[in-house]
Amino acid sequence: MSFFSKSSAPIYIAGPCSVESKEQLHQIARAFQSMPIQLFRAGVWKPRTRPGSFEGMGEQALAWLLEIKNEFNIPIAIEVAEPAHIELALRYQVDVLWLGARTVVNPFQVQRLADSLQGVHLPVMIKNPVTPDVDLWIGAIERMEKVGITDIAAIHRGFSTYAKSTTYRNEPNWIIPIELKRRRPELILINDPSHITGQSAHVAAMSQRAMDMGFDGLMIETHPQPSKALSDAAQQITPEALWQLIQGLNIRTPHLETSNQLAQLDFYRQLMDSVDDEIIALIARRMELSNQLGVLKKEMNLSAYQPERWREIIASKTHTAALKGLDPQLIKQVFEQIHDASINHQLGLFLDPTTSEK
Ligand code: PEP
Ligand code: MN
Repeated sequence: MSFFSKSSAPIYIAGPCSVESKEQLHQIARAFQSMPIQLFRAGVWKPRTRPGSFEGMGEQALAWLLEIKNEFNIPIAIEVAEPAHIELALRYQVDVLWLGARTVVNPFQVQRLADSLQGVHLPVMIKNPVTPDVDLWIGAIERMEKVGITDIAAIHRGFSTYAKSTTYRNEPNWIIPIELKRRRPELILINDPSHITGQSAHVAAMSQRAMDMGFDGLMIETHPQPSKALSDAAQQITPEALWQLIQGLNIRTPHLETSNQLAQLDFYRQLMDSVDDEIIALIARRMELSNQLGVLKKEMNLSAYQPERWREIIASKTHTAALKGLDPQLIKQVFEQIHDASINHQLGLFLDPTTSEK
């Protein structure tokens, strides 16, 4: 029997970003006993962006997780990034493995992991790669399938961008999980609102959005004292907050009486909403850059309005718009508004005596 199968009730996967202590695991597992959590997630080896951060407890964590599994009768999932991790996971009877976003970008590594999984019949979850590339994501899934892994779920955890947005730690780029669903409709698709938002206050809203988009489940990071967590402190929520979140979710049961077209209408509105959010985040990013430019212009005694530069912008943007089949007039108007706001902001800086010192 498959661990991952389609059902009308969402799959809930929860647990700490990283295993920190036996007591931490106990506190979480005890709280989960009265909640519909199907899988206990926990990081044993942590892929950290910079050296010097907490990198996980390793094998000791696996021994504690086995105790939790036996005492609370809950299946355990961990991230594996090396064949040696798989060997240890098997030794400590881990039930489900997942490949992290940083591993999935590397086909060599994914293949090494797939080779170690040959003949092992464990369910595997595959996070999206950090880069917004649906083929790379599907490629990792196919590498698992080719060695006989059939019990698979994909996890949407968002994508890295250079421009840091204030709303998301990792941009959702909904179009990518939707494309995955279009190409592989039978695949179980889980949303990870913790890594997408990066902020505990936004996890519930993102979870609801994922449910509205038709995801099959959620993976949510939980910690008894999130602010004391050794990794991802800002995004973890307490088991109590998780329980509230689950109880507050509006799970859409498919309305058979609703016409398919109505459902599609709704679906496209949801997508449109998230594109609008992305536009706003980009305009905000542009205004930040305008602010930096304004400070420089003030120091260099340049005027805020540079007609030459403005003519270039309009010419190049209307050209790009035309190449994309858009009305150049529309794009000209939009950019005129944005440019006006930007110049006004810079003029405000020129008047403010405090902005020349950095
Ligand atoms: C995690 O789930 O804790 C994790 C490291 O995730 P990701 O691979 O999505 O960054
Ligand atoms: Mn994490």
